[in-house]
Amino acid sequence: MNNCDIVKDLLPLYADDVCSGESRKAVEEHLNSCPDCKKELEKLRQNVSISPQKDGEVLKRIKRRLRIEKLAVGLISAAVLVFVLLGTLFYLINWDCSMDVERYDIPDNVYVTEWDGMLLFCVKGDAASFDFVFPTFSDSSGNHLSYDKEYDKDSKNGIGYTLKQRKISSFSYINFGNEYPFAYQIGTVEKLKEKNIEKIFYYDDVNDKEYILWESDHND
Ligand SMILES: [Zn+2]
Repeated sequence: MNNCDIVKDLLPLYADDVCSGESRKAVEEHLNSCPDCKKELEKLRQNVSISPQKDGEVLKRIKRRLRIEKLAVGLISAAVLVFVLLGTLFYLINWDCSMDVERYDIPDNVYVTEWDGMLLFCVKGDAASFDFVFPTFSDSSGNHLSYDKEYDKDSKNGIGYTLKQRKISSFSYINFGNEYPFAYQIGTVEKLKEKNIEKIFYYDDVNDKEYILWESDHND
């Protein structure tokens, strides 16, 4: 590497006045004897002299870019927030869960009553704030079979009901049942006997537990 190369490397520092004393002296000495490097320095100084304007423009561009980035980040954050809120709302409205047996006093508030040969599944009190009644079958081996799944029709011996709520309903604890108990027609006793249904029960599907509400009289 000859002196010119070294000096050209140092020139930008020299022009910005950040050279150490020794380097500065060396550069100055070389510049006195080398018109080539002197020209190079003049070029650098010209660039420096027009740089404030350029800096302003660059700064403006950077600021604009930062503003756009901030805006983009803001928009994306807002979109994500809306998405999460809508998802939560959708989940709360649409997904159902079995009602808490203890919280709603299910065994005390759910019963089957016989009326004119018809069996009625009744719900009163806080339990009547349910949104769906979900049926289940039981078979003679004590298995519980979801209504919509395949099951052995010949071995079924009971019908169970589970009260379900939308997730959102379980937050609002509203008591409807004391004024208007809910009653659902299960069928006539005769028809249930024909179908070999021996019992009707409330089915706590969380704990896989039956609460017997009605049993057919085998002595008939
Ligand atoms: Zn030189």
